[in-house]
Amino acid sequence: MSIKNIYDTVIPHPGPGEPPLFKRFPFSAELLGPYHNCCHRDKYLRKSRNETEIDSSWRIIKPEPENKVVNFAVNDFSQFLDICMKVRLNDAPAGGKAVILETAPEIGPAESHKIEITDEFIKISGADAAGIMRGIFFLERLMLKREAPFLEKQTIHKTTALPLRLFRSPVASYYKETQGHYDGEHYHDNILAKIAHHGFSGIWVKAWLRDLIEPVGFDWDCRDQKRKREDLERLIERASNYGLAVYLHMQEPWGAHEEDSFWKKNAHLRGDFFEPSHEYALCSSRPEVKEYLEQGFYQLFKRLPGLGGITMITASEHQSHCFSRVINPDMEISFEHWPIYEVTCPECRKRTPQEVAAEILNLAERGIHRAKPEAGVVAWNWSWSQWEEDPQAGVLRRLSEKVLVMSGFERGGKFKIFDDEFINDEYSLTYVGPSERFRKTAEFENGRNKPIAAKLQISTTHEAGALPHLPVMYSVAEKMRNLRKYNCAGGMFTWNFGCFTSIVTELAREFYFDPVKTDLEEILSGVAAGRYGTGAVPAILAAWKHFSDAGKFYPRDAWSLSFQPLNHGPAYPLFFENKNDQSPLSWQDSAMENHRLEDWIHPPWTVDKRLNAFRELLRHWEKGLASMAQAEADVSDLKRIDFLRDFAVAKAFKNMVLADINVTEFARLRGEYYSNKDCDRKKTIAKMKNICANHIELNDEMQALIETEPAIGYHVEAHCMLINREKLVKVKEKLLGILSQDKF
Ligand SMILES: [Zn+2]
Repeated sequence: MSIKNIYDTVIPHPGPGEPPLFKRFPFSAELLGPYHNCCHRDKYLRKSRNETEIDSSWRIIKPEPENKVVNFAVNDFSQFLDICMKVRLNDAPAGGKAVILETAPEIGPAESHKIEITDEFIKISGADAAGIMRGIFFLERLMLKREAPFLEKQTIHKTTALPLRLFRSPVASYYKETQGHYDGEHYHDNILAKIAHHGFSGIWVKAWLRDLIEPVGFDWDCRDQKRKREDLERLIERASNYGLAVYLHMQEPWGAHEEDSFWKKNAHLRGDFFEPSHEYALCSSRPEVKEYLEQGFYQLFKRLPGLGGITMITASEHQSHCFSRVINPDMEISFEHWPIYEVTCPECRKRTPQEVAAEILNLAERGIHRAKPEAGVVAWNWSWSQWEEDPQAGVLRRLSEKVLVMSGFERGGKFKIFDDEFINDEYSLTYVGPSERFRKTAEFENGRNKPIAAKLQISTTHEAGALPHLPVMYSVAEKMRNLRKYNCAGGMFTWNFGCFTSIVTELAREFYFDPVKTDLEEILSGVAAGRYGTGAVPAILAAWKHFSDAGKFYPRDAWSLSFQPLNHGPAYPLFFENKNDQSPLSWQDSAMENHRLEDWIHPPWTVDKRLNAFRELLRHWEKGLASMAQAEADVSDLKRIDFLRDFAVAKAFKNMVLADINVTEFARLRGEYYSNKDCDRKKTIAKMKNICANHIELNDEMQALIETEPAIGYHVEAHCMLINREKLVKVKEKLLGILSQDKF
């Protein structure tokens, strides 16, 4: 396969005349709406003797001086009581019952909180304003679970365990951000509020240094830096109202296309050439580029002091520095993007990739911390494995102690399906982890008394990129528990997709503050009760167990995940024509007029191995769906809508796996039909027609499911609906057309 096809394809995103978000996506009305939006009070419940009831006679006492995060949390709490609990706080006179908020830095690190619930008062002490906000949100969750404003008299003390918890908006556009559009309705205030409620401490956006600072080290044309900085500053300011930090995701020093005007002024800084994309790297071994990195990052944090920090990739993805795409020929790579084994740049030839990557990170760190000592500098180990075996000690030991290393939690892990062993080379929810690579990296860093950060995708991954979440809840609970075994500072919990808050982010939230319950069943029961009501817990837990067991059979393979039909479900067409062009990428909107089996079935996988794995997965998944169906009768009436939407997501996953099986089998039969002279053509055609008929059934079912959960089919990176009614109807018409043709 040519490299060009993957990396030259520009993913389209709407232009200047685009309609506003709420008109573009069927789920956006709810997404952009307020977090608290319906009644959760069961009016027949009565409080028990050991409970306190909040009613309209209570008041809230805020700490001095005024603080915007506390103000947000207090307003949120008042709205919660009013809308969800039917309690409207009046201006009660002083002296009565009160929720007392206070700042108490001594109770623990930032965001830690302590809640004392008595008959007369509820006192929320926060280590800082964000700690008060966390305490208020915790109270809200207790009442949501109880379905009444009744709180058990007790003292709860939560200490922050994972301080760095980065997330993203599901309507943020990665490809618009790379062009410097940071603020806007994709970070609508209600989206920021949802991200804060789900326990995250920050958001990340994609940025390039040259877009945000004035020339230093060398010269470049105006890139509208001032406007972009102002845009970013607005986002930083708005996010901070919700206690959220803004991190920039970067891949410096960043080269450019051979015809880019940048090289007219800076030909002497050209590094290695990457033929497939016609890009030159910016050679980071030159003193001018080193100055650019150190001074540039200093300027960035001087001009935008509100920034929380950066995360940085220093291998693969872009032709950034000279070693970006160079692979050590001794390394075994399961997903090889480009066969380049030697650096040609005369400066970098004298050096190693580990030395160059560590130097870039250290220069950035020095510049950033000179301007803002408390900022986070996170080095992501993405694809360092192309240079050195795990844990890439050559990079790690060169890094400043002030650089926090972030390792993919699942990449590089071995797993078995039936009797075959495979390597996991992608984010994965179905694979618990940690991978051997994470474990070795964490042990190396922890051994030097440094914490580690983890790169995860909590809500969804390429395993089901067009679903808002994948409910493999036992696997995620185990994953989070395993993460907590290391000295972990937190991490980045999305990529540019997998950004919906969901039942899965609710589960992950249970692991952010100590103490964490040791029994996973107890944690899962609590989450299930909060979402669906106590009565439904046993059947829901059974469903989640089956879903997690099913996930163990997911045919995880970086090639498959990149090209498989699954994300498009039954909106993926079938056709008899013998086309042999490359299949579309699984995360792109595309006409999908080709499907070439070998694009998504790559050794060591075979068609049969893939189909067998998926069929075994479905056997377990169906048991999970049966348990969910059983739970339905016991779901609390007040939580029925959330249940039905989550049930639709679980059904949609089955539907999409079946559609993938259909496309795979159909493509195999078509190959037989055209290339095997001995094949029974009549029989083959009959089988293909059966598949078409089944694809129509899946299509009809999916049309119903997207009515219940309108986020099904949306892919965040593609920034569009991969599955929607229009696409389904079109494919169905095509399938009916095939079935009606006599010649088949
Ligand atoms: Zn170089």
